[in-house]
Amino acid sequence: MNTDTDVIVIGAGPAGLTAAKKLAELDVDYLLFDRDMNPGENKPCAGFIPASALKQFSIPKIDDQHEIDKVRMKFQGRDLVTIQFDHPLGVNVSRGALGKTLQSMIPATSSNLIFGSKVGKVETSSNSCKATLREDGKERTFTSKLIIDASGANPVSQRFTAIRPRIPNSAMGYGLQYHIEVDRELEHSNTFLYGNKYSPSGYCWLFPRGKVAILGTGGLVKRIRTNERRTHDYLDYILKEVEPFSNELGNGTIIKKDSALMPLAGVIKPSFGQRIMLAGDASGHCSPISGEGIHYSMVGGLVAAQTAARCIRKNDFSDRMLSKYEENWVEQIGSDLKWGLWLQRKLMRPESGKTSGWGSSGFIDSQNSQRIIAEMLMGEKSVRNSILAIAPSYLKSKMSRK
Ligand SMILES: Cc1cc2nc3c(=O)[nH]c(=O)nc-3n(C[C@H](O)[C@H](O)[C@H](O)COP(=O)(O)OP(=O)(O)OC[C@H]3O[C@@H](n4cnc5c(N)ncnc54)[C@H](O)[C@@H]3O)c2cc1C
Repeated sequence: MNTDTDVIVIGAGPAGLTAAKKLAELDVDYLLFDRDMNPGENKPCAGFIPASALKQFSIPKIDDQHEIDKVRMKFQGRDLVTIQFDHPLGVNVSRGALGKTLQSMIPATSSNLIFGSKVGKVETSSNSCKATLREDGKERTFTSKLIIDASGANPVSQRFTAIRPRIPNSAMGYGLQYHIEVDRELEHSNTFLYGNKYSPSGYCWLFPRGKVAILGTGGLVKRIRTNERRTHDYLDYILKEVEPFSNELGNGTIIKKDSALMPLAGVIKPSFGQRIMLAGDASGHCSPISGEGIHYSMVGGLVAAQTAARCIRKNDFSDRMLSKYEENWVEQIGSDLKWGLWLQRKLMRPESGKTSGWGSSGFIDSQNSQRIIAEMLMGEKSVRNSILAIAPSYLKSKMSRK
């Protein structure tokens, strides 16, 4: 059957842009749609990219990148700890600048990227796919052999062809951020605050970029919905009363507030259906313990594009071919998502009565454990290896039974 293109990619976030780059490199015809004219610019995100992702995807210098070589952690009731590294751990960037950089890495893009066009409908059948765009009250339909839906935590295709169950509020995260401008260049450290004074059972983050600090907090939607304290109260409290942050940021100006959902559900299956693959947040490619998903989404986008190229080459769009997508991404990032969820359940749901929280878990008692947690949060160490290195023996024995 004749189609307008081989592959339609929906969403120009890290997942969709990585997929587009790979499709172009593999000489597969594709179209990438995004509802925004400048994809990334409006995405609520703290923008930390670990050094491992910069290396794996050969990402060049990003315009406003702020290198990080230090981690600060505060566990409620304990002093702030600072962990200095002798090498860069990664960079904080604005999502607009990341979007531009990832676009610049795609070979020969001009007619393949269609921005400012919202996909309003997705249809797939045994012999083709359709994506209908809505622009200025008009509709335009494009056909393809395959679709990669990388349109974020609530993917557009789910409304028309539900590939996986909806992520419940008990596994969906919510993050609220203040962007605070100060009068000097900020330090090169990312800060994490744990405890119910700082977040609704999640954590609070403070990620600097030049003279702007992103102060955010969040937790699971289910917890936030039933919480008596409003989410922004945590940020206001930190700004007013928690040293050294009130001193560092208290005189700054809040230039923006934003918030968004993030999937914190671990490995979600299935991630493909008839002629369609979900990639990035759409497929739950986001860390259940930190909410970081840029690196994982890029891996999802890359593997989806590689799978699509194989399907096109063999003209085979069967479940057997598409299941390779799921096999491959699970092999690359599944362990971090699985063990991240395990750790989230152990440490970040104290309201269940079965968890101890970070403070009394035994995880943070020595400088060595604190360094390992910092390495895990910065993407330097896998979640499983971090747990094995520091977990109290009763947790290790539970792990070995899994
Ligand atoms: C508050 C917050 C802070 C975070 N901080 C970090 C961090 O510091 N580091 C980190 O690694 N991760 C962080 N994350 C997670 C990270 O932002 C996501 O995991 C990542 O953006 C997922 O990439 P993606 O490409 O799958 O989706 P997205 O980045 O969400 O991109 C989806 C794209 O699809 C487009 N789109 C959506 N619907 C349609 C439609 N119908 N038609 C056309 N286009 C459409 C959108 O415009 C968007 O450009 C954070 C998340 C939140 C909410």
